[in-house]
Amino acid sequence: MNKQIYMDYSATTPVLKEVIEEMLPYFNTYYGNPSSVYSFSMESKMAIDKSRNTIAKIFNCKEEEIFFTSGGTESDNWALVGSAMANKDKGKHIITTEIEHHAILETADYLKREGFEITYLPVDSEGRISLEQLKKYIRKDTILVSIMTANNEIGTIEPISEIGEFLKDKGILFHTDAVQAVGHIKLDLNKMNVDLMSISAHKFYGPKGIGVLYIRKGTKINNLIFGGQQQRGRRSGTENVPGIVGIAKALEILNADLETEIERQEKLRNLFIKEALKINGVKLNGPSNEKRLSNNINLCFNGKDGEGLLVRLDMEGICASAGSACSAGAIEPSHVLRAIGLLEDEAKSSIRFTIGKFTTEEDVIYTIKKLYEILK
Ligand SMILES: *Cc1c(COP(=O)(O)O)cnc(C)c1O
Repeated sequence: MNKQIYMDYSATTPVLKEVIEEMLPYFNTYYGNPSSVYSFSMESKMAIDKSRNTIAKIFNCKEEEIFFTSGGTESDNWALVGSAMANKDKGKHIITTEIEHHAILETADYLKREGFEITYLPVDSEGRISLEQLKKYIRKDTILVSIMTANNEIGTIEPISEIGEFLKDKGILFHTDAVQAVGHIKLDLNKMNVDLMSISAHKFYGPKGIGVLYIRKGTKINNLIFGGQQQRGRRSGTENVPGIVGIAKALEILNADLETEIERQEKLRNLFIKEALKINGVKLNGPSNEKRLSNNINLCFNGKDGEGLLVRLDMEGICASAGSACSAGAIEPSHVLRAIGLLEDEAKSSIRFTIGKFTTEEDVIYTIKKLYEILK
């Protein structure tokens, strides 16, 4: 059997044992419906309240500003559709960026079909947006700006606090997709000046299918999901109690050694990049080390077919991700790599490696060695 080396932590992460253990009782011991009135269901209700309290403390916000969703995609959909619908009498102009996740881009597309006007902010060669450019795009009828905290493909960190500071008294809502930032940047909602923020547990060692939308108190936003009036009538549907317990536990564990783990991953990332760039023809996509997520390495293997490389890496037990996506049967170059100026062929030659909690120096060295062998 080959070694298995997981270098795709930005796609998803394993659930920590401690997280699973914390969740387990809520499947079959305390399984009561949190909305029921008898005391048995109090355990489930209390678990939700406790989790919400933990999360609010970590992000420095109020408990009543935390809403549980089915993940990053739902949070992004709710943020965009909910605020567009609630503010459409004020205006129909929305600003986002060219490098957002599909959960934002496809939702923006839907809103466009519904009569909203979308402006896509361009990015520089490192994937960064400019506040000056944003200022030029703001109009009287702009109701919402949505800019990701960090990019999932090339790891660019956007200047969220500066944008938030600028937008805060303009009467324009500000949403950030922070799904990739959790665990790599300290997120303090008091400093970020955002009205809405999306996160997703499976990107930080929690379970799949649970996320949070932070909604600042007083934000004008419509509901997306209708039903039994759970979560104070804002997000209906019986709460995913084990998931909620899991996301809070995962955040708590992450937060306990955030700085040291970021530093550890940065060292491994820097080693990976330094060694990879010694290979003939290899280039780094995206920003230089300081403005990049601590776990992201995106490389262009000029002229080589990325998909083919991925298959060869897979044969060596290495899991990574391509700079292209299969959509409707055709291989499309990544919109993010295209936005930072890569040619179609360069994008198709690119591979993303993302490291995480369980990545060791040995894993990095092994991967580099295999890259040399494959490219020879
Ligand atoms: C993974 C991801 C999402 C989607 O989250 P899910 O929980 O998988 O729906 C949204 N935005 C970004 C930046 C992501 O990386």
